Parts: sequence; structure tokens; C-alpha cells
Amino acid sequence: TAATAADFIALEDRYGAHNYHPLPVVLSEGRGCYVWDVEGKQYFDFLSAYSAVNQGHCHPRIIDALVRQSQQLTLTSRAFYNDQLGPYEQYLCEYFGFGKVLAMNTGAEGVETAIKLCRKWGYEKKGIPTNQARIIVCGQNFHGRTTTIISFSSDPGAKGNFGPYTPGFVSVPYADLPALQAALADDPATIAGVLVEPIQGEAGVFVPADDYLRGVAEACRKHNVLFIADEIQTGVARTGALLRVCGDCSCEKQCERQPQTYVRPDILILGKALSGGTYPVSAVLADDHIMEVIKPGQHGSTFGGNPVACAVARAALEVVKDEGLIQNARHLGHIFRAKMQELVDAHPQLLTLVRGKGLLNALVINDSPESKTAWNFCLALAENGLLAKPTHGNIIRFAPPLVITERQLLEACAIIAGVVERF
Ligand code: PLP
Repeated sequence: TAATAADFIALEDRYGAHNYHPLPVVLSEGRGCYVWDVEGKQYFDFLSAYSAVNQGHCHPRIIDALVRQSQQLTLTSRAFYNDQLGPYEQYLCEYFGFGKVLAMNTGAEGVETAIKLCRKWGYEKKGIPTNQARIIVCGQNFHGRTTTIISFSSDPGAKGNFGPYTPGFVSVPYADLPALQAALADDPATIAGVLVEPIQGEAGVFVPADDYLRGVAEACRKHNVLFIADEIQTGVARTGALLRVCGDCSCEKQCERQPQTYVRPDILILGKALSGGTYPVSAVLADDHIMEVIKPGQHGSTFGGNPVACAVARAALEVVKDEGLIQNARHLGHIFRAKMQELVDAHPQLLTLVRGKGLLNALVINDSPESKTAWNFCLALAENGLLAKPTHGNIIRFAPPLVITERQLLEACAIIAGVVERF
């Protein structure tokens, strides 16, 4: 007899480490903004694998690149050149407007790479005394799960009993420019960088004031400190701009021609949707005068920049441009927030507010962060054919694939409204 959803859940429970707490839904198929469970029930995917599947599930062009390159050459390591990496590096650098890229696989690896690059720049270019380099980070950050990254997390669950911790990080409250300026003014000669999420996704889609990122960049420049933008979740069209540092510019290319909106980081970290969620691909971009501090043998990864990753990421970025995903995310984001605002206004006892940019949004429930309300709300949404996941006990993130149409989005809004009415 065929295995049931309960069977698959029992297997993960029995043989897998319990490092996640999934909604009890077992998926076996995906296409565009939809996924199907093992019983054939269809859902809107409003998580998009934490904003990785921006281009939609199993996008034919991306899958085609994956299949074709997989049949040709999958891995050479970087001991040799391959015919995919160079053209991909050029494409990526021109697409995002940087001089050089360092190719990695996961987001956390990208962040680690940025930290190492920043520290090395600090010693070799800025002249920070050996082992004194500090990097300023923000409270409630989420940058991944490695030992060094959790060392500067403020989440006890992410951090507890994983010590001893990596030193060299100073935390300031997020979206608080005076606090950042004060931290930068305190012995700036030892500060190498400032690491910021342009919108804090995991923390609950916290959107800072419009002038915050510009202020961060200016404060960094003043003290000869690198501004590192972690756009792993916000990048690649998710927020209705190619990057969140592009602000409210919806052109397809970040550029100096949009000085009123575009704030250029010194180091840009991308992952997730860089491959359309098809394959683990991350990248760190910077200009030559920064990237040149990394010499042969000083950093790398067996799989980083492999031919399949290059072919897949290139196809994924082409899809973003050719299908107008930036414009779609921006347009539908306005509609989504307007619809959710109607619900908030009509049900203030249940809903507190909606916030976000483009198609990265969160609905805050009028309950404590320790409550189970958001979880129960997500269970009810799943029953009604829409998948979303709480980021805290009272915050639900809504981030559908950016290929979703207006009609589909309105259908999804109706599902959410129905659940709100009956909750
Ligand atoms: N940085 C940000 C802003 C993220 O949202 C995430 C993942 O959610 C990461 C880093 C870590 O990426 P990965 O899970 O691929 O290591």
C-alpha cells in the first residue's frame, strides 16, 4: 500500500534530527506558485522556501539548464577551469554592477565569506592591528547557522549551548542610525565592516525607515568601514526591486543613475533565489580593490562555482528579467498589503498590522510572541489551501513566488480572508 502523509512524517520523526518543526503537510510536486501534497491536494506556496523559489517551482527554463548542464559536466572543482564559471561570473558582475564575484553554495557560506573578506580587507587595506578587527551587526539579525554566525545572534535558541563563540562582533539595535553612528565612532580604527539585512526577514519582516540604508552607507564611508548587505532573503526581485538597497527603483539593474534610491554596498551577499531555489548557489560581490585581498589557497569550496550552479543561476537571473518579476512583485505587493490592511481594519481584535515591501510581507497577530496563534492560523490556512509559516508566535510571513498572477494573488487573499473570518 502507498505510504501516507503520516508515514512520511513518522519517518522524518524517527530518523531525522529534530532541528525543524514543519507544518504537517507532505509535499511531492510543485509548479509555479502551487505545490501539491502526497494526497494530491493543491496549495498556494506563500513561503517560497524562505524566498528562494522567487521564479516559481520547477521553472521550465531553469530546470532545462539544470538538466542540460547535468548531462554535460557537473563538477570539476576549482583545481581546473570550466567553461561555465567565467561567463557566469561576467554575467553576474554585470547584472549586479560589481567588479568581482566569489561563488559559494549556501547563504551561511556567503555570509562567512563576506566576514572573512571584510576582516582581511581590514588588516591589509585599512591597517587594523592583527586580530583586532571588529564587525558591527544588528540585534535580531538572521544570517545563518554556522558557529561564527550564531556567535552574533541574539536568539537564545540559535545560540544556546553552542559556545564558545567567535569574538569580534559588536551588536547595535536594528534600524537605529544614532546607535550605529555611536558604535562606529567608538574606536573606528578597529572596525572593518557593518553587516546589515536591508529588511530583517526572519525577525518578522522588519522594514527600517526609508533613509536608514543610506545613513548606514554614509556612516561607513565616513569611518572607512565596509558596508556589507545581506540580501540573501531580500535580493533578486523579492521586495519589488532587484535588490532592497535599490530602494523604490524598479529598473532591472541597480545603477548609479538612480542616486535618489540606490545605496551601493561595498560587499553584497546573495543566495536563495539566485538559483530560483533549484540548487544551492550563493555569491559574494565586491569591487576589485576589496576582492583582491583573497589570494589562491586562502578561501574556497569544492562545490562553489560548479558548472551546474553556474548554468542554473544564470537561467534563474534571466527569468527574473525576461518575466518582469521585479515589476510584478512591486505591483502585487501593493495589492496584497491593501487587501491585508482591509482585514486588519475589520478585525483589530485578531490582527495588529501588515508590513513589508514587494512580495515580502508579514501579518502581525494581536497576541504575544510566545503564543501559538500564528501556528494555529497557519494550520487553518493550510487546510484551506495556502501554505505559510510563522516566524514568531504572532507573526506570519507571506512570500509567494513572484510569478504569481494578480488573479491568483486575489484568490489567495480570499483564502486568508476566509480564515480570518472564521478564526
Ligand atoms: N541571511 C539571511 C538574511 C537569510 O534569510 C538566510 C536564510 O534564511 C541566511 C542568511 C542563511 O542562508 P542559508 O540557509 O542558505 O544558509
